[in-house]
Amino acid sequence: MILKCRLAGLALAVTLVACSSSHPAAPKPELSLSADLARVYAAGLSKPVADPYYPEHGSPTIDVLHYGLDLTWAPDHKALSGTATLAVRATTGTDTVRLDFGAPLSVDAATVDGRTVHPEHQGDVLRVPAGRRLARGTTVAVVIKYHGTPQSVKGPAERPDTQHLGFQIGQDGSAVALQEPFGAFTWYPVNDQPSDKALYDVAITVPQGWSGVSSGTFEGKTGETYHWKSAAPTASYLVTFAADRFEMIKGTGPNGLPLTYWVRPKDKAANLAVLQRTPQILAWLEQYLGPFPFPSAGAVIAGNSGMETQQMITVMTGLPDHVFAHEYTHQWFGDSVTPTTWPDLWLNEGFAEYFEWLYEARNLTGAAFDVFIDQVTTQADGQLRKRYGPPGHFNKNMFASGNVYYSPAFMLHKIRKKVGDAKFFAMLRGWVQQHARTSQDRASFTAFASRSTGVDLKPLIDRWLDSATTPKGV
Ligand SMILES: [Zn+2]
Repeated sequence: MILKCRLAGLALAVTLVACSSSHPAAPKPELSLSADLARVYAAGLSKPVADPYYPEHGSPTIDVLHYGLDLTWAPDHKALSGTATLAVRATTGTDTVRLDFGAPLSVDAATVDGRTVHPEHQGDVLRVPAGRRLARGTTVAVVIKYHGTPQSVKGPAERPDTQHLGFQIGQDGSAVALQEPFGAFTWYPVNDQPSDKALYDVAITVPQGWSGVSSGTFEGKTGETYHWKSAAPTASYLVTFAADRFEMIKGTGPNGLPLTYWVRPKDKAANLAVLQRTPQILAWLEQYLGPFPFPSAGAVIAGNSGMETQQMITVMTGLPDHVFAHEYTHQWFGDSVTPTTWPDLWLNEGFAEYFEWLYEARNLTGAAFDVFIDQVTTQADGQLRKRYGPPGHFNKNMFASGNVYYSPAFMLHKIRKKVGDAKFFAMLRGWVQQHARTSQDRASFTAFASRSTGVDLKPLIDRWLDSATTPKGV
């Protein structure tokens, strides 16, 4: 996400940009249908856990392997209708599939493994009776037909651009969904927590002259239906929906990576040059981080912020290229390697912020970059900790404030100074390449970073993430 504020007095103006599935052994399903689903969607296996900050969203009792979303957006009526087909694995014995689903939406019909069921929709929770007891590991097909006018929800933050999370509708009927740390449930039934990554096939039907954009790879258009596939596991906060009168522009990234940019004709003049810098930005990132983690990339110019939606970043009109560098960095840090729970948001933002600074300062010498970092540290770090809490356990009602961007980025610079450039960058590259498409946490990063560099970094990392004031002497 992008935080549209600047710290005064910096030599280099910095825009704050915000913004495991440890692949367990495949379960032993009990029915042939379950076995088929589990096998086809095995890459969507996760180990969901209740989020300690926002436990009211999502449930560790299920693991959604795959979402098939067949959606129609009617801008004139501001109406969404669709069918969601979910491959759901029970992670515990249960007779109910509990999903997050926005109260303003109406369920028209539901089935589990083809049998009609009658879900209970209370508030933003949908309880779907399985019609039988599901043993742990059983995978079922849950189909929900629904319609309605989605409404955004209040975000747990003071940032102006996250006051409204989820599906947002413009006066002209355009729509865009941005939903970190939650809010996917405002437009589809979902296990809305970061630890349950899943595969997606999304089809969006729009009126002629409109386009429907989602995360994943654009697979083409049939009639007025736009098809998107996420063959890599995707957390629900990284799924997007954008409908507008976009024009599609194709590009090619490093090693032939297919790129698409989606921009309204009236926004082309303000954004085309920076969009077309994407191949250079990705090539610059690949020098540090290794190959891009997904089979395609792109950007849609929409919304009121900037967000690292997977394989298709969502960026408001008129933002500079270092914002794009930030969101593209997230494709490695956050999208491919995802924090299991929200207290580890620093695993996303600290790294994206650090690479944004490196990108902005790529023409500075090492010494000048150190001066820049020192200025930011002394001016901002203490204030951010005081106001928003330590970055490793930030105030949960102030999600994605400056403390989870700046302070962990300073920490990375401290690690770099301690171990040297060669070990530091080798460690970062190893982290994203060896943990691609998984969920991770502080303990796994600390262990990996220490092992990779040969230096025990636990004292530094813990002090830097947990201190109420700027740590001294580390
Ligand atoms: Zn970010």
